[in-house]
Amino acid sequence: MDCIFCKIVEGTIPSKKVLENEHVVAFHDIQPAAPVHILIIPKKHFAGMNDAQDSDWPLIGEIHRAAQQIAKEQGVAETGYRLVNNCGKDAGQVVFHLHYHLLAGEKLGGLNA
Ligand code: 5GP
Ligand code: ZN
Repeated sequence: MDCIFCKIVEGTIPSKKVLENEHVVAFHDIQPAAPVHILIIPKKHFAGMNDAQDSDWPLIGEIHRAAQQIAKEQGVAETGYRLVNNCGKDAGQVVFHLHYHLLAGEKLGGLNA
């Protein structure tokens, strides 16, 4: 399967990793949209949120757990951060391996801005 994020998980494409455990990998986005912009992905490949099965919900929880830890380590837990999943065309999803964006480090625009 030709998936760029699977290659990042395998290490065949380099990335600036900030966290890796049994379930997830997190790394800096190559085109940051905020001072802190980290992608959190499951090691298991699935294309997006529509493809999550009932047995995958604990894994989604692991992504949230990683987000909490990364926010603390990046020093943005108190100032605030946003966790975003783009699902499908209208949301602008371009990489079809489930991922969450952790955005922080400035007053973020958009929702409630
Ligand atoms: P999406 O729009 O699918 O939610 O976001 C995909 C994100 O992946 C984009 O923010 C894009 O900059 C990032 N991205 C795409 N290719 C690479 C890559 O090879 N390395 C890293 N670190 N980020 C990538
Ligand atoms: Zn993949």
